[in-house]
Amino acid sequence: MKKYLTHLITKEPTPQSAPLPETTQVANSAGGYSWAVDEWGRLRRFLILGSEGGSYYASERTLTLENANNVLKCIQEDGVRAVNEIVTISQEGRAPKNDPAIFALVLAVTKGDEATRQAAFNALPEVCRTGTHLFTFAELVNGMRGWGRGLRRAVGGWYKAMDNRSLAYQLVKYRQRNGWSHTDTLRLAHPMPVNDTQGAIFKWVTYKPKENGAIASGEAMANPLEWAEALNAPEDKALAFIWAFERVQKAADVETVVQLIEAYDLPREALPTQWLNDADVWATLLTKMPMTALIRNLGLMSRIGLLKPLSEAENVVVERLTNADLLQKARVHPIAVLIALRAYSLGYALKGKVNRRGYVATEKSGESGWMPTPRILDALDKAFELAFKNVEPTNKRIMLALDVSGSMSSGMVAGVPGLTPREGSAAMAMVTARSEPNYTVISFQDKIVPLNISARMRLTDVVNMTNGLPFGRTDCAQPMLYAMEKKIAVDTFVVYTDNETWANPQLHPVQALNQYREKMAIPAKLVVVGMVSNGFTIADPNDAGMLDMVGFDASAPALIADFARGGV
Ligand code: CA
Repeated sequence: MKKYLTHLITKEPTPQSAPLPETTQVANSAGGYSWAVDEWGRLRRFLILGSEGGSYYASERTLTLENANNVLKCIQEDGVRAVNEIVTISQEGRAPKNDPAIFALVLAVTKGDEATRQAAFNALPEVCRTGTHLFTFAELVNGMRGWGRGLRRAVGGWYKAMDNRSLAYQLVKYRQRNGWSHTDTLRLAHPMPVNDTQGAIFKWVTYKPKENGAIASGEAMANPLEWAEALNAPEDKALAFIWAFERVQKAADVETVVQLIEAYDLPREALPTQWLNDADVWATLLTKMPMTALIRNLGLMSRIGLLKPLSEAENVVVERLTNADLLQKARVHPIAVLIALRAYSLGYALKGKVNRRGYVATEKSGESGWMPTPRILDALDKAFELAFKNVEPTNKRIMLALDVSGSMSSGMVAGVPGLTPREGSAAMAMVTARSEPNYTVISFQDKIVPLNISARMRLTDVVNMTNGLPFGRTDCAQPMLYAMEKKIAVDTFVVYTDNETWANPQLHPVQALNQYREKMAIPAKLVVVGMVSNGFTIADPNDAGMLDMVGFDASAPALIADFARGGV
């Protein structure tokens, strides 16, 4: 059992540039000393935060290699446990992007022992839930190993396990990505269909001319629409869906397109691009549009005149954006909402350019813009909170402390262009601030930086406030020292940081916490929210009053609340 081990941490002044004696601290990238996150903790950081854009201290390549090696370590130690971790985080929609989970799954498939490989093959449909995920998997696995029997069976099984209507939907909606199409994967895996409809669907994919004009080998299909018509499609929902897809490719007028969308629930991806600027088409799509598509296309629907103030479309969008059930069911990640909020609030489409350090130089696109409506802005702001797993207020006294030092302004959170750890921290802290009656927010570098953030502020304003601060040094002891100096009673400190603390010549963050506990006679807890997928934490792993967790885990605010609420 872990206990408060305050007596084990020396009270002797120890500069952050030296390790605390008698502990397992390691040098961090900034020249200070922190603890190492264990390999399973680091696996979670990687699965949730990814490594795109690198960090202030490490290039993307270095950070990815470090993380790949760490995944391998987990696979060697307990491969089945590693696969289970991957599945859990992917299934629960806790990560902004599924790519790190797919990458880790591919490592389990290629480098794991027999039991690990089997577990990874079984997990394929759980982690790769869309055609796009499957193509990412195929591309990665293709670079690392051959298509042996186990792999072919697993990929074939992905198709065979789906009911016919879902299969038809996947094949229509996600047709190709990164040079991969279902023609390629089906031809490699070569699954035997389990029923006649499935056989017809496989045939449609593998015999049909590819979209780049090349003819798939095998029996060529000259006219897919005639072929689909000959199947007497309307009798069978799956085949009818494919027929409708082929039919809409030949549609000559908007009425036909609208009718086909209405009758067969065709998604936007099924439509030829020429119809994608039409307000009637989008109005029809909107009635059944999946949440993720809705969130991504707010700007477009505004630009073409569908989404405007006081319109029926606005009502529909607001109602759906603020429906917690719909957001959770669709696994909408808070980051996706934050991206949409930033894009929509601009009022014009951006063309981003990512430079070497991960910053984005943005410019206005040539297209006309839109006027963001206040109701949709507010709905998105609300949706950001609702997309996190439900948080019950703890009623504890909580200090939310944002590390706004220089290193936090570099790199991207979860590969989102322009979203720095600093901005990500501010957005994260808002979720807890809005759910707790007793909270305060402070920001620090190697001293307190006055920012005055409150729960009633708009997310975009809070995020913008953290921009443009001077580039400062890092001392993660500041929140506790400040609370001690001002005699502020705090039950739980929540520090959002990259854990690269180094600048205090007198004491470490845990020493500051221990002093605070003693002087204030409060057994205060410390939650460290890691915003970068490096291997460090300021939380003492031997102190049960401290918790290290991963920033932008959709469960993070709920986990913070559980920890703040629970006894030690
Ligand atoms: Ca720093």
